[in-house]
Amino acid sequence: MRTEDRMAPLKDEMIALRHHLHQYPEIGLEEYKTSALVATRLAEWGWNVTTGVGQTGVVGTLSNGTGRRAIGIRADFDALPITEETGLPYASKSPGFMHACGHDGHTATLLATAKYLAETRDFDGTVHLFFQPAEENFGGAKLMVEDGLFERFSCDAVFGMHNMPDIEEGVFGFRDGTLFANADGFDVTLTGVGGHASTPEVTRDPIVAGASIVMALQTLVSRNLDPMEAGVVTVGVFQAGRASNAIPQTATLTVDARAFTREIATLLKTRIPEVIRLQAESFGIQVTITEMTGYPVLVNDTQMTAFARQVAVKTAGAARVIDLKRPYTGSEDFSYMLEKKPGSYLVLGAKHERAQPLHHPGYDFNDKILLTGAAYWADLAREFLQSR
Ligand SMILES: [Zn+2]
Ligand SMILES: [Zn+2]
Repeated sequence: MRTEDRMAPLKDEMIALRHHLHQYPEIGLEEYKTSALVATRLAEWGWNVTTGVGQTGVVGTLSNGTGRRAIGIRADFDALPITEETGLPYASKSPGFMHACGHDGHTATLLATAKYLAETRDFDGTVHLFFQPAEENFGGAKLMVEDGLFERFSCDAVFGMHNMPDIEEGVFGFRDGTLFANADGFDVTLTGVGGHASTPEVTRDPIVAGASIVMALQTLVSRNLDPMEAGVVTVGVFQAGRASNAIPQTATLTVDARAFTREIATLLKTRIPEVIRLQAESFGIQVTITEMTGYPVLVNDTQMTAFARQVAVKTAGAARVIDLKRPYTGSEDFSYMLEKKPGSYLVLGAKHERAQPLHHPGYDFNDKILLTGAAYWADLAREFLQSR
């Protein structure tokens, strides 16, 4: 019998739990009720529970048999500052906040796995479930890692999953290597010497320096990157001046950089401030640069991805497993966990008639994939702990 069929008795309870989470969305690092609910359920089912990991994060640990291997499975549980417009009976009861990314579904899915594993004890080794806060804003994965996640809950590999409303329902998607981009930002202030438009010789014009910086930044992708590689550098803000007959004192710019490999992310992160500083200096302009570090590139491990893929074939059948052709341009903080442990992040198709994109006010997690995901996690845990 397939694991998903074995899990069928849990279906109503888990969907009700998902709807409960949906009604009480909490944003990053404020997931107090969510975190308490997860901890209570895990404890009821016999898991060892550790709370406060990375502030509001929760870890559930269950060992069975004599196996020495351990696996980590992560689900995120934070919501977004978006006003829900689904009109659903279980819509958000917190005005201005909603589960618009399906993290309620990710959490309910992993809780279904937790209950199933506790009841069946159908594995040999240790399973750690990482319920993570603040994926959308503060990098909860990083907070958990910095809080000693992998020292306190040692595991051989770590896995994570996201629902994708544009992929067929119940289809598993895998990608070896990069799955999500890196995103970094820079706030730049140029300070010159203002004055009358008619006497530029006694001023230091931050607009001319800024214009030169904007153009020089265009050469990073065209001249510093291997033509076969990709990166994006965008100046999204350039503000200066208020009068046509005056040279302003200051100009501000923001720069957004995206990359799909760690190497290019590092190159852009180094070269952007370098180019800005040297350009500004050549105009006698003072510059301050504030770096806003985004999430790093999410890079899936080759061996672990092949392993995770093969388990999906067993869970769902080969016809329901696809290889993702290209990475997503967004970013995902599970990358911090993958920087420390081998593992893989996969996606699960969630398409249905009313499906809206992630972060859309009309989005809702597709309950039909809840047990599919939960069965997959249970299969993955069992198979991984058996493997060597
Ligand atoms: Zn999101
Ligand atoms: Zn998400």
